[in-house]
Amino acid sequence: MGIDRLKTYREKRDFGITSEPAGGKASSGSQIFVVQKHNARRLHYDLRLEVNGVLKSWAVPKGPSTNPQDKRLAIETEDHPLEYASFEGVIPEGQYGAGTVIVWDIGFYENVTEKNGQAVPMTEALKSGHIALLLAGKKLKGGYALTRTKQGWILIKMKDELADSRDILQAEPRSVQSGMTIEEREKI
Ligand code: MN
Repeated sequence: MGIDRLKTYREKRDFGITSEPAGGKASSGSQIFVVQKHNARRLHYDLRLEVNGVLKSWAVPKGPSTNPQDKRLAIETEDHPLEYASFEGVIPEGQYGAGTVIVWDIGFYENVTEKNGQAVPMTEALKSGHIALLLAGKKLKGGYALTRTKQGWILIKMKDELADSRDILQAEPRSVQSGMTIEEREKI
């Protein structure tokens, strides 16, 4: 769709010879988001959003919700590399974040943050402490808001036709990548 901004990049290379990535669709307003379920010292979920070539990251102790009435604390953590989005496995004992990780949800997001009717770029939205997102994941869909408070960021599902009061963490516990639960992943 639209102009292929990676066309020149691909034309210059023979991907049968070079090991460089061919790249997918150049992002046009859509960036990767991922939610990883992480059974570390405490079970939590990590929300990551692609911003300027890295994954901005938050630890969400109670995990995301599809119910607009739930306010979920999201504690900002360090940026992760883009490749981390597909990471599943066991972080060894003694290492930072030791424990098992599965890709609980993955997809694309669109930054729909506005101020006075004007679109606000992600970097500014992050600085100002208010981000409106449209998620297109396998599980999480539709509008979400991230708002910074004194206690940390708060993640809330926006009221839209994709809001849902069921407990999605219980209903859909498996990895969207391997199909495994975190307990199953832990054992391999
Ligand atoms: Mn984590």
